[in-house]
Amino acid sequence: MIQLGNGILLEMDGCKFRFDSKRVQADDVSMISHAHMDHLPTSFKRLAAICSPVTRDFVEARRKKSIEACSDPRVKMLEAGHIAGSNMFLVEGENKVLYTGDFCTREKEHTRAASPQTCDVLIMEATYGKPRYVFPAHGEVMSMARDWLSDILRRDGTAILFAYPLGKSQELTATLRDMPLVLHQAIAENNRILMRHGYDLPDTEFVSPDPPFVYITSGQGKDAPRVESLRKHGAKTAAFSGWALDRNFNHQMRVDEAFAISDHCGYDELLEFARRCRPEEIFTTHGFARELAVLIKKTLGIDAQPMVARQRTLDHFC
Ligand SMILES: [Zn+2]
Ligand SMILES: [Zn+2]
Repeated sequence: MIQLGNGILLEMDGCKFRFDSKRVQADDVSMISHAHMDHLPTSFKRLAAICSPVTRDFVEARRKKSIEACSDPRVKMLEAGHIAGSNMFLVEGENKVLYTGDFCTREKEHTRAASPQTCDVLIMEATYGKPRYVFPAHGEVMSMARDWLSDILRRDGTAILFAYPLGKSQELTATLRDMPLVLHQAIAENNRILMRHGYDLPDTEFVSPDPPFVYITSGQGKDAPRVESLRKHGAKTAAFSGWALDRNFNHQMRVDEAFAISDHCGYDELLEFARRCRPEEIFTTHGFARELAVLIKKTLGIDAQPMVARQRTLDHFC
């Protein structure tokens, strides 16, 4: 039995496996796919969960509580390719069930790609589950971004790159580390956590830098006034997001440029992944879950159902 509500619950062989739950229950086998806020438990005193050491460190830093990383012989952790430390979970009992969490099958500078696994039941995310979201090659978009930045730096200018503090920011800092990067404090702190796990990332924080420089920030909250003042002094702006494929994105985000860089699979990659897992049944969750389920049934002939609670607003930087 698979059910949505307090994360995703899988009951199999008399045991409760719970993926990305909000409230931790003592007799569940708890799994945390990655450290983005919408996948983390909110209330717990002590937590034993199956997760990567990187995810554990981020959860501890964000929730200020300690986590005991545990294991279970029926659960295999697999690379999800979404952000540093992200995992898919393959649970093997009377059925083989694969939970992808957020995942990406494109290899990037700081993450490896997720690969399909043969399973009976596939629970997959559907953030970009509509045919118009097909991403160009990651390397090509990054080299366009690099050209755009080089032009600005050559003229002693400044650029602000808007990116989610965990995931996209690390990809940008890893790819552009030869440029004069200055980081928002939250991003520098995230990089430092990853440096302890062997990642080679810069961590220079923004402290009144002289041009030329490239500032990486989410641009939100308390950072908005700083961004505004840099804009007034002629800084060029760019956002990095899969939603850059939407026609209105630049305008909505008030940026000069937008680059279609995502930590998720595009529509074509979601379908290809589902086909290669060869499951009998698919559950779609997050984003365009309904649309993707219909299209999977139509194009792959596999039984697919959406798991939808209430549609949440989608993150601008996915
Ligand atoms: Zn995520
Ligand atoms: Zn997510």
